[in-house]
Amino acid sequence: MLCFYACKLNCMALMSMELISVRIGYSIKWHQPLSVILLLGLGVLAASQAQAQLRVLAVHSYESHLPWVEGFTNGVLDWPQQDVVLFNEYLDAERLSHQSQDSFVEYLLERYEGQGIDFILLNSSAASLLVKDHEEVFNRISEIRVHYSMLDIPLAETEALISPDFGASVQQTMQVAHTLQPELTNVLIIEGPTFVDREIDDSIRQVFEGSSVQVEVMRRFTLEEMESAVLSLPSSSAIFMSLVFSDTKGNQYVPKQVARRVVELSSAPVYTLYSSFMETGAIGGYLFDSELVAQTMMNAGIDLLEDARLSREYRAEVPMFDASAMKSFRLDPSRLPAGALMLNEPKSLVEKYPKLFELLFVALATALVLFIAWLLYQRWYNLQLKQKNILLNRLKSELTIANERLQELALYDSLTGLLNRQAAEPMLQEAISRLRRYHTPAVLLIVDIDDFKQVNDKFGHDVGDKAIVGVSNALVKGVRDSDMVARWGGEEFVVLLSNTELEGAAAVAKSLCRTIEQALVEPRITISIGGAPLKNGETWEHAFKQADEALYQVKSTGKNNVKFASTKSFSMG
Ligand code: GH3
Ligand code: MG
Ligand code: MG
Repeated sequence: MLCFYACKLNCMALMSMELISVRIGYSIKWHQPLSVILLLGLGVLAASQAQAQLRVLAVHSYESHLPWVEGFTNGVLDWPQQDVVLFNEYLDAERLSHQSQDSFVEYLLERYEGQGIDFILLNSSAASLLVKDHEEVFNRISEIRVHYSMLDIPLAETEALISPDFGASVQQTMQVAHTLQPELTNVLIIEGPTFVDREIDDSIRQVFEGSSVQVEVMRRFTLEEMESAVLSLPSSSAIFMSLVFSDTKGNQYVPKQVARRVVELSSAPVYTLYSSFMETGAIGGYLFDSELVAQTMMNAGIDLLEDARLSREYRAEVPMFDASAMKSFRLDPSRLPAGALMLNEPKSLVEKYPKLFELLFVALATALVLFIAWLLYQRWYNLQLKQKNILLNRLKSELTIANERLQELALYDSLTGLLNRQAAEPMLQEAISRLRRYHTPAVLLIVDIDDFKQVNDKFGHDVGDKAIVGVSNALVKGVRDSDMVARWGGEEFVVLLSNTELEGAAAVAKSLCRTIEQALVEPRITISIGGAPLKNGETWEHAFKQADEALYQVKSTGKNNVKFASTKSFSMG
């Protein structure tokens, strides 16, 4: 093998050198050191390339189209540790006679001797027997060999044997079947022609020995006989299905298709030995899986290649069950052995309807974005509303203040701060009501500044204003708090003396005249006062008219005096 690698390396290196020399136009002279270094470098590169590939010869008993062989080939090619170059050869044990086997071996030798085969995989008992009959010849192809065989063949140091234990697998499968179907009444074994099948019956019988479960075997049958046997089974049964290639009429079948037909017709679960039946609707069992066998054999081959002895136990059966088939027979998966491989497990809703969930996700995301946008809008809107409310409240309080001011303006005279005429009139009306109800006497005075026009003319309007304010203050000061002083208009005032008789009123009026007259402020002014008592049964307007008439009389008789209606003028003296 080393020789082969060396040869391969040299060839590749030389070819590469030639290619490079053509490309860079540099003629390589073998004695030049640069050429040697280049050659060595390329040699190392080529070595790493060459080592990455593993050359394996597989000898199968059956033809390439059979599922087992196909699975085996896939298992070798999918072997993950290294690139594999696989050479398949088909012995076809049924077809080849002893003599023709000799010529098959000759063919192998001619084809593979010196081809750098790393190891040989013998994928059946028939292939193993062939090797044992022609060991010397096979040694010339490769001494390293891995057998997959039920037979207890003698092994050389450079060989490994992986033995399928069909009996043990079948028994484990039927034990699981009994656990899955505690009410099991009978088992129907549908046998094939191989010697594996002979082991199946006994193994299954051993499992149910001493129990009430009946075990029946269908050995040689026509397809119709098999179908009617399957149809007549109660659902409390189990079927063990083997490889059926043909029937007694000589018809040939593909075993997997026969298995599919049995599953279709049966009201009882179908168990088996081969993973290739898993897609037929069979429940499964402890199965022989050709890919797993191939990979296990590859591991053994590598172990032999590396240290020429086996360090591990190799087993290639796997507990494998079809979840959807189990579900259709209402078998409880929790009763399966731990570590069992499950196929066709029910998909989650997300896996089943990915498009729908994609849409749902987009819809939810959109809804979320819209919701957040709505929340933000709400927040913004509320903020706006709050600001508007603050503004509104401010305007409201400003309006309240303005209204209060307006009311003040409506009731009080802006120059003197006294009540104005509008405010005074209801109070006069009120005094009339009090008089009527409680007989409280009251006197009304009209006060007018004398010759005020001249004051304005002489001293100006501002001085006139101040004089009006001065008179106003003197009037307020000169009466009681319970009396009312109002500016009636211009330089004319009304005073209502509550709870006052005429005499008292006369005294107050005179005192007012005197106070103004004697005030030592410029301009010197005087006032005239006309008065009248409020009378029960008469209006305040009547009293006002009488007081005005009295005032008129004062004005026309010298001013700076007081006169009351229907009474004589009160002399100041
Ligand atoms: P009499 O003695 O007859 O009352 O004469 P009089 O000049 O006081 O009376 P008249 O009615 O002729 O004139 C009143 C004057 O008072 C006219 C007006 O210019 C002045 N007057 C009225 N209101 C105000 C005011 O608020 N301020 C000022 N400065 N003058 C006013
Ligand atoms: Mg006047
Ligand atoms: Mg006047």
